[in-house]
Amino acid sequence: MNTTANANLFSRLFDGLDDPKRLAIETHDGERITYGDLIARAGRTANVLVERGVKVGDRVAAQTEKSVAGLVLYLATVRVGAIFLPLNTAYTLNELDYFITDAEPTVVVCDPSKAEGIKAIAAKVNAKVETLDSHGKGSLTDAAAKAKSDFATVARSNDDLAAILYTSGTTGRSKGAMLSHDNLASNSLSLVGYWRFTDKDVLIHALPIYHTHGLFVGSNVTLFARASMIFLPKFDPDLIIKLMARATVLMGVPTFYTRLLQNPALSRETTKHMRLFVSGSAPLLADTHREWAARTGHAVLERYGMTETNMNTSNPYDGDRVPGAVGHALPGVSVRVSDPETGKVLAPETIGMIEVKGPNVFKGYWRMPEKTRSEFRDDGFFITGDLGKIDNKGYVHIVGRGKDLVISGGFNVYPKEIESEIDAMPGVVESAVIGVPHSDFGEGVTAVVVRSRGADINEASVLKALDGRLAKFKMPKRVFIVDELPRNTMGKVQKNILRDTYKDIYTKS
Ligand code: AMP
Repeated sequence: MNTTANANLFSRLFDGLDDPKRLAIETHDGERITYGDLIARAGRTANVLVERGVKVGDRVAAQTEKSVAGLVLYLATVRVGAIFLPLNTAYTLNELDYFITDAEPTVVVCDPSKAEGIKAIAAKVNAKVETLDSHGKGSLTDAAAKAKSDFATVARSNDDLAAILYTSGTTGRSKGAMLSHDNLASNSLSLVGYWRFTDKDVLIHALPIYHTHGLFVGSNVTLFARASMIFLPKFDPDLIIKLMARATVLMGVPTFYTRLLQNPALSRETTKHMRLFVSGSAPLLADTHREWAARTGHAVLERYGMTETNMNTSNPYDGDRVPGAVGHALPGVSVRVSDPETGKVLAPETIGMIEVKGPNVFKGYWRMPEKTRSEFRDDGFFITGDLGKIDNKGYVHIVGRGKDLVISGGFNVYPKEIESEIDAMPGVVESAVIGVPHSDFGEGVTAVVVRSRGADINEASVLKALDGRLAKFKMPKRVFIVDELPRNTMGKVQKNILRDTYKDIYTKS
């Protein structure tokens, strides 16, 4: 094994490994992969990629079910100096056509069931296609089995690209966020320290690996700490509660926590071996935070990040983990709040646009220089698109995406404020507030509410409870009761779908 000291993320992850026999990953079906195995497997796959013509700076796209081989593919791609491009497993062939023709990868790795359709798309950009199924089997693994495990890690500098992750693109086209070796390494190393990861930690890894949360936060942090992870193909509450008896950390999206709370087996006893529960990728309701603490004795540690920036803020390891807040800027990261129109930096406690700067912030959008320019301030701060405030104690609070802001009768209405009022009502599970076209007001504030089973809640009772608590212009004009809110795989409420569902309610005569 040859790992030249350089800024390649792979070298930074594995150079100086003390004990190759140390456990890195165990799978739900009992496979155990040591750090030495992982490096050797990455070496074999790296040799296959090079045989397939992958050169430094080329893209390797992957739309595969979660498997250790899928993670190895990521490590191998980085190792050869190429750029890893993971794709959400939910994307259809039609959507893949856009990503593949936009990114022009040299190799596309996909599930065998999709190979035929993908071959037709890959042919347009002369990409080779390899397969990998949910058990890690396929043409890529077959070729890797025959390849050598030695591979000289390609030297890269801090700013060279290691990955491109496409944003979910709920408005307009998806954009490829270009992430450098140092973006990924510096952020993970910072989290190892902030969250006190050590080689004794065992992470329950139940997140997908096509997204920044599971791929970088989960996997890189574990590997940098020489900890180990239990790799689960999907979220399974019963299994996760069982695994807590020998694990130490869980990283999840808020829906993990709400679903685990519905499980009667969750208790102080079943979580007593755990030291840390991390939540992110979508807002964790303050109620969920409190309920979790009451039930388990653990305060969930909420953090805030995004595809373009890795992690920006985190609640403290020691000290108050404030329900509904995403904590302080991580070491080396600057966070500020500015006026969305003028860019003027705002005082604490004032709501505005959250902007960030630091070694975590991406290099720009793939082949979109104009878009990239328009999302950065002249002094290098990235305009996140999230609205929020920094309170007097330095905690960042997010009130929603800028595009979710409702402007009704010329007044700005922050959905979070109304959602918090509704969520606090007895019998309400959660809510989403959206703006939809309104002939008089421009947009009409509209609430979509999920009630708990059997709760006696309806439009009139919600409006009555809000009356007097909110200024008139913030009051929802309509309230709809639903069974559940639409969410994507990362647990984010899809307000675009709600806006579409209710788009005609105030305009149809
Ligand atoms: P993604 O690029 O898919 O990771 O989505 C990033 C977006 O998720 C951010 O811009 C926020 O809008 C949202 N997000 C991430 N973490 C949190 C959090 N802890 N609380 C509220 N929103 C969050």
